[in-house]
Amino acid sequence: MRTLTGSSAPRPDESRQGAPIHAAFRFYEELNDFLAPERRGREFSVPCARAATTKHMIEALGVPHTEVELILLNGESVGFDRLIADGDRVAVYPAFEAFDVTPLLRLREQPLRSCRFVADAHLGGLAHLLRMMGFDTLYDNAIADHEIERLACADHRIVLTRDRELLKRRGVTHGMYVRALRPPMQLREVFERLDLARSARPFTLCLHCNARLAPVDKAAVLPQLPPRVAAQFERFSACQGCARVYWEGSHWRRMRGLIDQLPGAAAAADGPPTQAGQRASR
Ligand SMILES: [Zn+2]
Repeated sequence: MRTLTGSSAPRPDESRQGAPIHAAFRFYEELNDFLAPERRGREFSVPCARAATTKHMIEALGVPHTEVELILLNGESVGFDRLIADGDRVAVYPAFEAFDVTPLLRLREQPLRSCRFVADAHLGGLAHLLRMMGFDTLYDNAIADHEIERLACADHRIVLTRDRELLKRRGVTHGMYVRALRPPMQLREVFERLDLARSARPFTLCLHCNARLAPVDKAAVLPQLPPRVAAQFERFSACQGCARVYWEGSHWRRMRGLIDQLPGAAAAADGPPTQAGQRASR
């Protein structure tokens, strides 16, 4: 149960220049995970630097700004650049799911139209599964944080990470802190949070290099196929980047089972014709 109980504390007295500033914060739902235990689930007062913004204070308290969807300051929705004044009461909310916030200002007025991702170096399994679902996902196990930030900026990619410091970087406007530890659960978490089911195009991207797959004649790839596969399958796809060949083998069926368990994904998986199979081969 979420409630929007912004209070209407009076604006601070401008004459009190020089006096220390204190503001009260209350974080909601899973944002509490980022807080020190004694600050979870309750309002608490903290000293704020002069000229501190909402973003500055929220991150100073440990919460990456990319996790925040709505800030109410004395009951009014405000942006990340709002200066904090003495006596302010700040309520901070995460991304909303089944909750209508349209009358209120959301922090990002222009959501990304297409969901493209860059995953940090520890999320290779998740990157692989997102590619399987047809989401353009950059991943390299040696990628540096500044490179992730650059790619996020240049390509308007959503950063996926379990490193909250990465999400605090200035260039990262869209990001998601991934809580789950195992890739299948991580995939489910990303699907639920970003409502991806309708955008999924399973088996359209190469799991190895993230390039598009295209149908290919069996005759054209026959020399690359193990004899058992050549005897058993008729439909093949090839990666337009690395030329790996895919078919609907056992790996494909396992992935299919995983897709069917995702929220709303059954419809998505039935959507476009999926010409591509799974198991990669040279
Ligand atoms: Zn490829």
